Amino acid sequence: MYKITWDKETGGVLLHSRIVDGTLGTSPRPVFWEELDLLKLNELGWKYPHCEEPLLWAINKQYWYRGELVFEVKGANIYDEATVVFQPRKEALKLKPVNVKKMLENCKEYMFLLESEAIEFIHETYIQYAGSRKSVQSVAANQLDYEALAARAEKKSKTKMAIVKEDCDSFEIVPLDKAEEQGRKIYQTTKIDKFLASFSGGKDSQVVLDLCTRAIPSTDFEVIYSDTGYELPPSLFLYEDVQKHYKELYPDLKFSVARNHESVLNYWDKIGTPSDTHRWCCSIMKTAPLYRGLKQDGTNKQAKVLTFDGVRAEESVKRGAYMRVGKGKHTTITNAHPIINWNAVEIFLYLFKHDLPINEAYRYGKARVGCLICPFSTAWDDMIASKRYGTELKPFTERLVAWSKDSKIGKVDEFIKERRWKIKAIGNTDLVKTAVSFSDANNSFTATVKNPLHSVYEWLPALCEYTVEQKDNVDKGSLRFDGNVYDFHLKYEKEKNQYIFVVENPSAQLSFLLRRVIYKSAYCVHCEVCEVDCPTGALSIVPNVYIDKTKCIHCHKCLNSHDLGCISADCVRMIKNMNNNEETKIQGYKTFGFREEWLQEYLVDPEYFWKSNSLGTAQVDGFKAWLKDAEINDSKNKLTRFGELLQQIYVDDTNLTWELILTNLSYNSFIVNWFVNNIKIGQEYDRKILEGMINEQGYSSKGKTVANAVAALIQTFDYSPIGDTLNMSMNTDGKNNVRGGYEEITKAGLAYSLYKYAEKKGVHSLRVSDFYNDECTSGPFRVLGISKQVFNNTLKALNSANNRVLIAELAMGLDSITLREDLNSISCLESLL
Ligand code: SF4
Ligand code: SF4
Repeated sequence: MYKITWDKETGGVLLHSRIVDGTLGTSPRPVFWEELDLLKLNELGWKYPHCEEPLLWAINKQYWYRGELVFEVKGANIYDEATVVFQPRKEALKLKPVNVKKMLENCKEYMFLLESEAIEFIHETYIQYAGSRKSVQSVAANQLDYEALAARAEKKSKTKMAIVKEDCDSFEIVPLDKAEEQGRKIYQTTKIDKFLASFSGGKDSQVVLDLCTRAIPSTDFEVIYSDTGYELPPSLFLYEDVQKHYKELYPDLKFSVARNHESVLNYWDKIGTPSDTHRWCCSIMKTAPLYRGLKQDGTNKQAKVLTFDGVRAEESVKRGAYMRVGKGKHTTITNAHPIINWNAVEIFLYLFKHDLPINEAYRYGKARVGCLICPFSTAWDDMIASKRYGTELKPFTERLVAWSKDSKIGKVDEFIKERRWKIKAIGNTDLVKTAVSFSDANNSFTATVKNPLHSVYEWLPALCEYTVEQKDNVDKGSLRFDGNVYDFHLKYEKEKNQYIFVVENPSAQLSFLLRRVIYKSAYCVHCEVCEVDCPTGALSIVPNVYIDKTKCIHCHKCLNSHDLGCISADCVRMIKNMNNNEETKIQGYKTFGFREEWLQEYLVDPEYFWKSNSLGTAQVDGFKAWLKDAEINDSKNKLTRFGELLQQIYVDDTNLTWELILTNLSYNSFIVNWFVNNIKIGQEYDRKILEGMINEQGYSSKGKTVANAVAALIQTFDYSPIGDTLNMSMNTDGKNNVRGGYEEITKAGLAYSLYKYAEKKGVHSLRVSDFYNDECTSGPFRVLGISKQVFNNTLKALNSANNRVLIAELAMGLDSITLREDLNSISCLESLL
């Protein structure tokens, strides 16, 4: 929240209410002697005490002592130690600890304001929702489900609605803008059964817990620690310490631990690894056990809870967009974020000020404390985990190695140390033997399900009421859905262990929900995630799926709780599709490249183009695939907003047009992504070399798939400016090609590339040097091949432009880039055009 500068006097930091000379663009983290020992600074000649206080500060991989950059680290990963690169004359420093007491004294006023505001927010939120709970109990009219009423009104009026409270203590639904205009308090829900402070072992949740104890009576909230099963060992110890500390102060404060009924390794074995597009572990191991543990006594009904959590905007663009009180992932959860605007320094200052214990993992250099292995952490985190907690990490890395080999991934060591497993979910699950296929031919819905885990009748009660008569191998019945009756029949083919389920003339909605019933029946591994979404307590998952027909209101929340209706089905799709996707994308272009002349013809009049164009039929298919991967067209082959923007620029600005296209292709096209990550600047190649390299890396392909993809890529280089203007293909001797660097990047091209990268990573703070790391697999250097000097110069131009889309701090050894939270890749481009 406050601006930060170094404080040479204390060796710490100072807070300011506005930007002053020397303001840091990124919040630093304190560095302790344990991290320096881990980096072997003691063996390299540095002297420092083994003390409680921090010794210096780090911003990403740069280390600062009393306002001066003293060294950087490079190259750490799960297998390799970090290399320390000293600044000149900093090879043998003698460090004094930060004077924490003085630093706190200097920051006293700002910390007081920050804490008071957060405590007031927690207190007011508690009073507001505890008050609504009382109103619901005392005023009969308030028993109504106001959330459902607001949702219905919203659907009808197509206007955002809000729940507000009247003077007479009853609630009302009004348009949100009107409520805001009148300055009225908005309620996310009227019924809160419990207040929680969620605890994760990390610094942010520790601060929120402490603030809650200062704002809410200890009898009125609970602390729940979600143990995911692959917690860092010190987080478990910290939980014990924290519990002891507060129990002494507030004996009636309730603490508990939430765990899934199965171990995380069992889930890895059943549904494969989590990946950064599908972090199932958060839902299955963390949130579902937490909220499932809050069932109301005697009923199976989910309690409605308001959780005070440690979400902070600094951590990602997405989090920055959160409202301070909003609906959570599950329908029964409301989240409040008391420290949403705090920065990391303020969090640490709070911990120092209140003498709260610091998780050991921070002392060893972790910037965020999460699980032992996580798709969202970094190679640096892997290094710390493997050095400090190697025994606990081993079962996971063993599986990564074994499954990478099973998936025929070449160079397994690199695949793991470069963390490519986080993009490519892998696994060795029996569930891949389960196969589901659907057909909507002849006005019938037909599902063919092979090797299902469960009977379809386990989940059918959630859909609607039904009757069924079972005879021999065929069941006949009818579904009562949405006021209509639909006949169905189900035929078992025992020898194939499969069944065929047919429903006649279903509505679109019925057909959609039937697919979900089928997916759940085929793939359910009893993870319990969808049980949390059931509002009536009708659904139980463990030990077996059971839907209490007397309680089920057919709200379909359990069927809509996840993509495909089931997290397990979605995981299996990811593992199965990984190769299939590559296959499809490799095959999609046939042998045709992305030609500039076709694009020009298309952009002149996209609608007319599909009626009449100069392309052959096979070329049209290839071109459609390129348009989709370049994000010019959507999956329905319609021009996107990005495509509309290209229409404005392609005639006058060739460089920008193809910089943008190449950036998009690098994320969506297997062959382009492979090329930019495997062929270095200055490297020679020809068609055969590329084919050989791809095959060596074990990408599955049938027949001429790889050869065709390479042909399409080479054609793209030959027939579009990607080859000779962006220098992907510089023809040296008439035979071999060389990938060249590119120095003519446009400002808009660089800004778009940065926003796109940030969107994919979920961050808005970046560093120039990170793009030149071996680990970086996208961004302006890897994709467009621009040098650091050109990168910096273009950043400076963007930084000083009138319509500034980013802040670049490049002086004094800094190389940080902060993107605007109100822009994304498209709006940034719009603003620059
Ligand atoms: S979520 Fe809705 S449809 Fe599913 S079991 Fe519960 S009440 Fe029934
Ligand atoms: S149906 Fe899917 S999401 Fe629901 S409990 Fe089973 S595995 Fe989990």
